[in-house]
Amino acid sequence: MNAGTLRGPALIANGQGRFALETVEVEPPHFGEVRVAMAAAGVCHTDHASMRWAGPLVMGHEGAGYIEQIGDGVEGLTVGQPVLLNWAIPCGHCFQCDLGAEALCERTHELDVAHLGTSRAHTGATRLRGEPVQRAFHLGTFAHHTVVRAEAITPLPHDMPLDLACILGCAVMTGVGSAVNVAAVLPGDSVAVIGCGGVGLNVVQGARIAGASTIVAIDRVRSRLTRARAMGATHTLLAESDDPRAERLIAAVRDIVSRGVDHAFEATGVADLAFLPLHMARHGGNALQVSGAHGPATLELPRLFWNKRYIAPLYGGCVPARDFPRLFDWIAQGRIDLANQVTHRYRLDELERAFADMHDGRAGKVVLRIA
Ligand SMILES: [Zn+2]
Ligand SMILES: [Zn+2]
Repeated sequence: MNAGTLRGPALIANGQGRFALETVEVEPPHFGEVRVAMAAAGVCHTDHASMRWAGPLVMGHEGAGYIEQIGDGVEGLTVGQPVLLNWAIPCGHCFQCDLGAEALCERTHELDVAHLGTSRAHTGATRLRGEPVQRAFHLGTFAHHTVVRAEAITPLPHDMPLDLACILGCAVMTGVGSAVNVAAVLPGDSVAVIGCGGVGLNVVQGARIAGASTIVAIDRVRSRLTRARAMGATHTLLAESDDPRAERLIAAVRDIVSRGVDHAFEATGVADLAFLPLHMARHGGNALQVSGAHGPATLELPRLFWNKRYIAPLYGGCVPARDFPRLFDWIAQGRIDLANQVTHRYRLDELERAFADMHDGRAGKVVLRIA
């Protein structure tokens, strides 16, 4: 164990659908890296899926904490500073970063392997039983400490509770950014949001901030619709199980906006519903699948008629330097409500319960308190 290496607990996915709380060793940061003492981490469906990725893997890709140690070559950060971690880490000089599409950074998504070489971004500074272990999205936030590239860090305002801030780097950015950056909702526009979980609620808030005059929130759980209304939905529709083809739901949206809405978003994570926004959007309107659902879905081509745009954005088109300061301002102004999104808080050793609440459908966002 090197001098300065820290030992602490981390949630490790085993690659076979299970996880365990284990002790890992986290080395001091190298050049361009920062070691962070995690304070809180958001739990997301992606974390559940990560139990089947090639393991072992330190879980977690949303999180906030305090800078514990700073490597050489890192400027502008101080030890003890509260920070947000961002999983889509822009390198700033690949093809996509040059286009301004930083969320699609080819270094983050490991397309640019030649350039990446054997960076510690992959095998990490974290060791499990003496062997280097990967971290989810190069972060691994379900751990007491992690070492990340400095570009993954955004300093947080000092007055923002970290058990709320920790959800900014996934659900909030994805939802708000999909409305504001990708769909580019304009004042007076009409919007429908299918699914009011972690991402959908933030689509609602983004649409409200952008000035949408009609925001139709749709969910199968009544309490989620209540939350969506509090965050800006002007109409709510309860999706019913005896409407399998969603015909009544589509008709209900068209009762509100007869030509169809300007922007319709799917945020359920259910592949079968991925094309439902095309039934609700007007000609020339936007249909977005923001949940990252996987699996097959069937599309009748006329649903794309006429001039509809179908977009599957990643991470709300996040450009960290532009978007995070703006989110902090909107939170300070009370225009983004974080407090009512986080409904459940658990310890690191309670992930099983956290997953159960997340799947239950009534929860808002579930958070792990780490320190
Ligand atoms: Zn996430
Ligand atoms: Zn890049």
